[in-house]
Amino acid sequence: MDNAMILSGTPAIAPGCVALTYDDGPGPRSAELAQSLREEGVSATFFVLGESIKRYGPVLQAYADYGHTIGLHSEYHRPFSSVALAADQLGKCRKRVEHHLGPDYFSDTIWHRPPYGVGDEPVPGYAGPVGWHASGRDWDITYRRDDVLRPPSNPRPHQTVAGCVDEIFVGLQRFGGGVVLLHDFAPFTEFTAGGLAEADLDLQVIDITMLLLRRLRDAGFTFVSLSDPAPAGRGG
Ligand SMILES: [Zn+2]
Repeated sequence: MDNAMILSGTPAIAPGCVALTYDDGPGPRSAELAQSLREEGVSATFFVLGESIKRYGPVLQAYADYGHTIGLHSEYHRPFSSVALAADQLGKCRKRVEHHLGPDYFSDTIWHRPPYGVGDEPVPGYAGPVGWHASGRDWDITYRRDDVLRPPSNPRPHQTVAGCVDEIFVGLQRFGGGVVLLHDFAPFTEFTAGGLAEADLDLQVIDITMLLLRRLRDAGFTFVSLSDPAPAGRGG
């Protein structure tokens, strides 16, 4: 099973190093997650989603206050079918961040990751697209109560916290480190289309993160931020 998606703008991570990234937030546990990471001395990158900012916008301040990087995911969680659509969606998401954190929050370039990792072309004005070296189907834990996105024809057992950490660990061992994909929330349009309400989500992101930190530190990995953004237009 391949749990990597290395897009053209994925930054190089030094051997033995790991960069944690979280998509689809901010959400109801994101401020606590941001604080927990800070207490562990880890700076992560959060690829935020406009439709989540609509609901949890004030949480953006916690990402910033605890020393994390904010990247852009999209306005709505739909695949980027063209560079023009990507630019439109990232621009709307950026405006939402700036509404909460001020017009000077972003420096000249901004990391981005397309929804589902779909769309591997650079978007002018943004660094990336940033993919990932390892993931562990954490979304499957979040959606554990879902009956709609898990038809009887797909009877695979649900992911567990330990199983998620195992899959990420194996993926990182394969590359000797790299970028990890996790999620600190879920897209509103996606889970409501699946018949779920926010109360149906099972957000285990903090437990996953703390277990992963211990596992990776025990194995000798070091945590790093994504490197400084490359010049706009062509991700480094
Ligand atoms: Zn996403």
